[in-house]
Amino acid sequence: MTIARVALPVPLRRLFDYRVPDGHPPRPGVRVRVPFGRRSLIGVVFELAETSAIAADKLKTAQLLDAEPAIPDSALSLLRFAAAYYHHPPGEVAHAALPEALRAGRPVEPAGLESFMLTRSGRDAEAQLPDRARSQKRLWERLRAAESVVAEELDADFPGWRPVMARLNARGWVRRTEHQPRFPAAAEVASAPALNPDQRRAAERVVQAFGARGRFLLYGITGSGKTEVYLHAIAECLARGRQALVLVPEIALTPQIVARFRARLSLPVAVFHSGLSARERHRAWSAARSGDAGVLIGTRSAVFVPLARPGLIVVDEEHDPSFKQQEGFRYHARDLAVFRAATEEIPVVLGSATPSSETLANVARGRYTRLELPARAAGASLPRVQLLDLRRLPAADGIARPLLDALAARLERGEQSLIFLNRRGYSPVLLCSDCLWQARCPRCDARLTFHLQAARLRCHHCGAESARPEQCPNCGGGKLADVGAGTERLETALRHRFPSARVLRIDRDTARAPGALEHRLGIAAQGGADILIGTQLLAKGHDLPNVTLVGVVNADQGLYSVDYRAVEHLVQQIIQVSGRAGRADKPGEVMIQTLAPDNPYLADLVAHDYDAFARRLLAERRAAGYPPFAHFALLRAESARERAGLDFLRQARSLGRALAQSRGIGVSLFDPVPAPMERRAGRYRAQLLASAERRNELHELLTAWLGRLDDEPLGRTVRWSVDVDPLEMY
Ligand SMILES: [Zn+2]
Ligand SMILES: [Zn+2]
Repeated sequence: MTIARVALPVPLRRLFDYRVPDGHPPRPGVRVRVPFGRRSLIGVVFELAETSAIAADKLKTAQLLDAEPAIPDSALSLLRFAAAYYHHPPGEVAHAALPEALRAGRPVEPAGLESFMLTRSGRDAEAQLPDRARSQKRLWERLRAAESVVAEELDADFPGWRPVMARLNARGWVRRTEHQPRFPAAAEVASAPALNPDQRRAAERVVQAFGARGRFLLYGITGSGKTEVYLHAIAECLARGRQALVLVPEIALTPQIVARFRARLSLPVAVFHSGLSARERHRAWSAARSGDAGVLIGTRSAVFVPLARPGLIVVDEEHDPSFKQQEGFRYHARDLAVFRAATEEIPVVLGSATPSSETLANVARGRYTRLELPARAAGASLPRVQLLDLRRLPAADGIARPLLDALAARLERGEQSLIFLNRRGYSPVLLCSDCLWQARCPRCDARLTFHLQAARLRCHHCGAESARPEQCPNCGGGKLADVGAGTERLETALRHRFPSARVLRIDRDTARAPGALEHRLGIAAQGGADILIGTQLLAKGHDLPNVTLVGVVNADQGLYSVDYRAVEHLVQQIIQVSGRAGRADKPGEVMIQTLAPDNPYLADLVAHDYDAFARRLLAERRAAGYPPFAHFALLRAESARERAGLDFLRQARSLGRALAQSRGIGVSLFDPVPAPMERRAGRYRAQLLASAERRNELHELLTAWLGRLDDEPLGRTVRWSVDVDPLEMY
């Protein structure tokens, strides 16, 4: 008897056994519909077995949904690996890897694009349409104005069009067609600019690795032309009949990259990210899997999309924290891309101007090959970086005099400036000057941020909102003060100081609506603003050719954080945002405001010496026994009851310690502690850190330990999860 071991979308770290119809055992990767309790679920066959621990007469039968595996072998290996590595329920992993349509059991091939056009008699039908049939008339006019109209467009702007179309159709006036759209490719490939010697050397090294494993760090300062190296290697990959997968950190970055790739590559370029409709994602997934698309560009989850003929994987801005999913299935897309490339025996290129500590450590250990682009393409020089000592310099509205003067000079010359502050809202603290009361979130251990335009106090952690009090709720006094500045306050202050300047703010508050971020970035790129104010949304690789001044308002937030990764992220962000400044003909200038101008990390920034910074960072991590010199897993627990999470973690630790001791596994389990922000959205959070020198020992312990915790009654009283290689420690 053949047993299918199925991954089902339930939060359990195991597979489920089902009987399969005789004579046609499915191949792993096939989807099945199975009875599960009182429900019917769709899952993926992960393995086949001859026997089951469940008695034969108790086994239920699976209904096969695919003749051929929906998930091909290599993509399935990736899912198995991801489930094992992140100790996450395999069904939830498979679920995350499939487009919605496939999760719902629909065919692998997406439905075609439905379109409508008028027939010959339909074109002459106007006289036969009575005036009172207004909808029919409107739809008829719509059809007459175009060659054909796609159903999705009508869905978007002609609500209830289907019955109207049916009436036109009943009279023989319209014709319906269905076809599979192709993703666009350049009709005529734009010619590639000549590569400089460094770019050529890097591209050639990657091309030489085709058909075999190869791990590369493409380390190129901002503006050094990494994308040209990718394009050269990808064009060569396509010419050899292979496909390329390109991962990018941010949805807002994809239109720019996609347009550039489509202009330069002769094969269809498909796009996959969360900003698309379910149908669009299904089409892209299917085109990559069938081989119709030459290139797939996508964010994090695109790492799971199968390719028919994989040839190359590129991870652009590999250091970007957004490659790590921070909830549920907490995977890191860059790390999975590296594993995937190895199983598919193809090279992977990790590109960055500010490589992550992990990647640099892998280069130092000889696991990755470092390819370098040391010069800015087109000969532009690096911006001049200087620190502004906030202890000595007078500041108005949080901006020191030299930065204000530099802003005024840019306005005079008609150049753009960019002010970076990673804190949105008007002010982060509302304080009573009489009794020192502060506005705090009732559900979190956090202060409320005042938002001026909305005139509301908001919690940035749970979304709680309240009106701003007129008087102090504690002492009844009337002297409530806004302390500190966020982007909204900076915007207000700069508008006031430079009334004729066009000021544009780009943060999550102004970019909330779909398309708003792209729209604002478009204005910025076309010179439609004199002063840009933004959070990290602005720091990513957008092209802002007219920016010649970058001001970093507060560098100190990251220098003294409880999170050991904060410095790395801060320096990467500042370098990214500084990289926006200056092009060939206009040298840039960067000013960083700080209360700690003697900080050695800031000195590395001034010297443009990321290597020195990385050496310092890695030495500190090594001395402290932190990643990448140790391997971490964080066990988190939360509960509405105050001590429940800690109680569970204490029990978990004694269980884990006993396991480690009895099996001789070298893993340290630290004392459970409340999370740095203990209460969030009304729940108390606690965490326990596990650290090991050797990765396999950490996994050995986790496998045994989590298996025991899954059965632990106390574990059912809290919500707990494990985060392997955590990026955030709170
Ligand atoms: Zn008060
Ligand atoms: Zn809150």
